[in-house]
Amino acid sequence: MAAGSTTAPPVQAAFRVFPVQVEDAVRLTPHMVRITFGGPALADFRTGHRDQRGKILLPVAGQTEPLVPEDVNGAGWYAAWRSMPPETRPVLRTYTFRAQRTEPDEVDIDFALHGEGGPAGRWAAAARPGDRVLLVGPAREDAGGVDFRPPPGTGSVVLAGDETALPAIASILEGLPPELPVRVFAEVSGPDEEQALPGPAQVRWLHRGHGPSPLPEALREAELPSAAPYFWLAGEASVVKRLRRHLVSERDIDRGAVCFKGYWRRGLTEDQDDSAAVPASN
Ligand SMILES: Cc1cc2nc3c(=O)[nH]c(=O)nc-3n(C[C@H](O)[C@H](O)[C@H](O)COP(=O)(O)OP(=O)(O)OC[C@H]3O[C@@H](n4cnc5c(N)ncnc54)[C@H](O)[C@@H]3O)c2cc1C
Repeated sequence: MAAGSTTAPPVQAAFRVFPVQVEDAVRLTPHMVRITFGGPALADFRTGHRDQRGKILLPVAGQTEPLVPEDVNGAGWYAAWRSMPPETRPVLRTYTFRAQRTEPDEVDIDFALHGEGGPAGRWAAAARPGDRVLLVGPAREDAGGVDFRPPPGTGSVVLAGDETALPAIASILEGLPPELPVRVFAEVSGPDEEQALPGPAQVRWLHRGHGPSPLPEALREAELPSAAPYFWLAGEASVVKRLRRHLVSERDIDRGAVCFKGYWRRGLTEDQDDSAAVPASN
C-alpha cells in the first residue's frame, strides 16, 4: 500500500439478510395472522419503529427453505437476489416489522390473509413453528425504510389505511406522545377484523363488506383537525392516490404534510407492481 493511503473501514450495510425461523403463529382476527420470528441472527436487527418496512424472502415450490442471496461482489443483497436463477430465486414481498423484542431476540410481522392470497399470504396462513425464511431488515435504527416523519410543529396526526396498513398504524401509535390528538380511519372487511389499537387515538372502523373501499368517502365527510395536521395514508394504491388527491387538491393541505404509500395494487402481484418492488433500504 502506498504511504499515506488509508484503508476505509468496512461500511456496515444498512439493510441485511437475517435467516430466521417461525417461533409462533397466532390469529389476531380471522384474516390477520401474527408470525413471530426468532434466531441468533436477530441480535443484530435494529428496527427504526413506526412504519419500518423490510422484506421477507420465501421458499419457492420444491424448497423447504429459501436459498440465501450471496452478495459476492459487494453490490448488496438486492443485486444478489436479482441475479439468482428465477426457478430457485426466493419469492420477495414487502412487510412492516410490527415489533422487535430482545431476550429472546424476536420480530413480529402481521400478515393480512387476502382472498385466495399470493405466495406470502398463503405462506403466512400455513406457517408453523420451525419454518425457515429470510428477513431483509435494518441493522441500524437509522437504516431508512421509515416514512412516518411528521415535521416539527405537527399539532395533530391522521392515519388512514386498510388491513395491510394496520401493523404500521399500531406501531406508529405506540410511538406517539399521549397528548397529541390522533385520528385513525381503519378499513377492514367487517366487525370480526377489528383489532385493539394502542393509545388514546380516536379510531373509526370502516367495514367494506364486498364493496369498494369506504375510506375516500369517510375522509371526505370527516371534519379534520385544524391544528397543523400530518397525514399518513397506506393501502391499495388507487385508494391511497384518491385520498391524497382529496387532501391536497380539495382540502388544500400542504403536500409535505401528507405521507402516502401504495402497499398493494389490485390485480397485480408485488412482482408486477414496479412501485412496490423497490429495494428494502429505500
Ligand atoms: C411498505 C409496505 C408495507 C407493507 N406492510 C404489510 C404488513 O405489515 N402486512 C400486510 O399484510 N401487508 C403489508 N404490505 C402489503 C403486502 O406487501 C401485499 O399485500 C403483498 O402483495 C402480499 O403478497 P402476496 O404474495 O400475498 O400477494 P401478491 O402475489 O403480491 O398478489 C396476489 C394477488 O393478491 C392481490 N392482493 C395483494 N394484497 C392484497 C390485499 N391485502 N387484499 C386483497 N388483495 C390483495 C394482488 O392485487 C394480486 O392480485 C405492505 C406493503 C408495503 C409496500
